[in-house]
Amino acid sequence: MADPKGFLNHGREVAKSRPVDVRLKDWNEVYVPGSLLPIISKQASRCMDCGIPFCHNGCPLGNLIPEWNDYAYREDWSAASERLHATNNFPEFTGRLCPAPCESACVLGINQPAVTIKNVEVSIIDKAWDTGDVAPQIPERLSGKTVAVIGSGPAGLAAAQQLTRAGHTVAVYERADRIGGLLRYGIPEFKMEKRHINRRIEQMRAEGTRFRTGIEIGRDLKATDLKKRYDAVVIAAGATTARDLPVPGRELKGIHQAMEYLPLANKVQEGDFVTPPITAEGKHVVVIGGGDTGADCVGTAHRQGAASVTQLEIMPRPGEERAAHQPWPTFPMLYKVTSAHEEGGERVYSVSTTHFEGDEDGNVQWLHLTEVEFIEGKLTPKPGTERKIPAQLVTLAMGFTGTDRENGLVDQFGLELDERGNIARDADFQTNVPGVFVAGDAGRGQSLIVWAIAEGRSAARGCDRFLTGASELPAPIRPTDRALMV
Ligand SMILES: Cc1cc2nc3c(=O)[nH]c(=O)nc-3n(C[C@H](O)[C@H](O)[C@H](O)COP(=O)(O)OP(=O)(O)OC[C@H]3O[C@@H](n4cnc5c(N)ncnc54)[C@H](O)[C@@H]3O)c2cc1C
Ligand code: SF4
Repeated sequence: MADPKGFLNHGREVAKSRPVDVRLKDWNEVYVPGSLLPIISKQASRCMDCGIPFCHNGCPLGNLIPEWNDYAYREDWSAASERLHATNNFPEFTGRLCPAPCESACVLGINQPAVTIKNVEVSIIDKAWDTGDVAPQIPERLSGKTVAVIGSGPAGLAAAQQLTRAGHTVAVYERADRIGGLLRYGIPEFKMEKRHINRRIEQMRAEGTRFRTGIEIGRDLKATDLKKRYDAVVIAAGATTARDLPVPGRELKGIHQAMEYLPLANKVQEGDFVTPPITAEGKHVVVIGGGDTGADCVGTAHRQGAASVTQLEIMPRPGEERAAHQPWPTFPMLYKVTSAHEEGGERVYSVSTTHFEGDEDGNVQWLHLTEVEFIEGKLTPKPGTERKIPAQLVTLAMGFTGTDRENGLVDQFGLELDERGNIARDADFQTNVPGVFVAGDAGRGQSLIVWAIAEGRSAARGCDRFLTGASELPAPIRPTDRALMV
């Protein structure tokens, strides 16, 4: 156990952020580099090693949190890294990007601020990279079996790494020009610098995983041909079909899906453009959708020099305390101030867009909205609350409806979908087509990185069993798991 009195002697202290006016001038991560390490052992010492660590169930990966907290408290970084990697292939992604449902389930959190689990996680992995503890794990012998993984987001990468380490020859097919899925093109640099993906890819290449970019399965290579070439396939193609807003004026110039806007900003950081083809510079920006994708648009627009940024949300503003129906240890819906929100902009709740208005050249200029309220369980416009706000760039961040159906992948394989439109799978993550597995958002629907990694690991085990009849790979979750409702 970490220090038995740690939680009595130390309060919760989190990573320090760089001042807003400084960080808005660059795209680097918002935290002060190196600020965590001096405090992290004390923070890890707050872990009580309670009899039933609910944080294990809060984390979809089942991370062994009290074990690595203990090692971090003792500054045995190498042992901490070993325990961390026992359940998580990519803790540098989750340690930066996870909403940390584990902390909502921390027993200390019942009556005190929870242990800073996510900060401990990222400190352990950053230290492990610095000290050379993250080495390639090359399989001792090859199975002679081949696997194609479709999609290189966190689910595809986790599945590929597990299957490669199990001795199979794995090729990852990615339609984009770079590896990483939404980690690369979607999540902004200020939330996670892309160097973290690059060095993992190098580790994976050294282990034997092969990467093929710029190939869209379904379009560039028929799914049926791919299946003939490989002994098994893991689909990790994400849920990239964005929800639209079919209101009058939607066709005006300057209204874009968030995922048309954000990847261009990522590409500037990769050196592909000097100025992005869609920019917020000097414009009044409205972001429709109050979630994480919306917050990423807010932070991006501020860095591009927007004149103003307004984020709209149709639902009422969540409370700052747990609601009675979301008791500990569940993951509650709370009012969240992300780093992007600290940087400015206005957040408007309980409003719905009625239409857009443009100028004579067809460029959007105004967004018309109305306030809404719940009447008999339905969101209903409030009469007399209609108004318009300036809007020269509008981004739609209203979620995703499922995996891409346009490229033919689903139909060519003959895949069945579940009632929510995601690719259906059994307890082994196998689809209705023998030897074809699915992991991550493609099977689960739009979700989180931690779930994608957990699904990638579980699907790898299912695939390994299919190929060899048995598997020693771990399977943290089943397809229906909901781990404390995240
Ligand atoms: C803007 C944004 C911000 C987010 N921020 C966070 C966050 O902070 N924390 C968090 O936990 N979650 C976040 N999420 C959610 C998280 O990114 C996803 O849940 C996660 O990336 C899903 O992983 P995946 O591997 O299933 O799919 P993806 O990451 O979507 O990867 C799928 C990949 O498959 C490729 N692909 C698709 N079809 C084909 C094909 N036919 N052939 C070849 N390649 C194909 C795609 O190009 C893509 O690269 C965010 C999502 C968005 C959109
Ligand atoms: S992956 Fe997420 S839920 Fe799991 S320990 Fe890390 S921060 Fe917590």
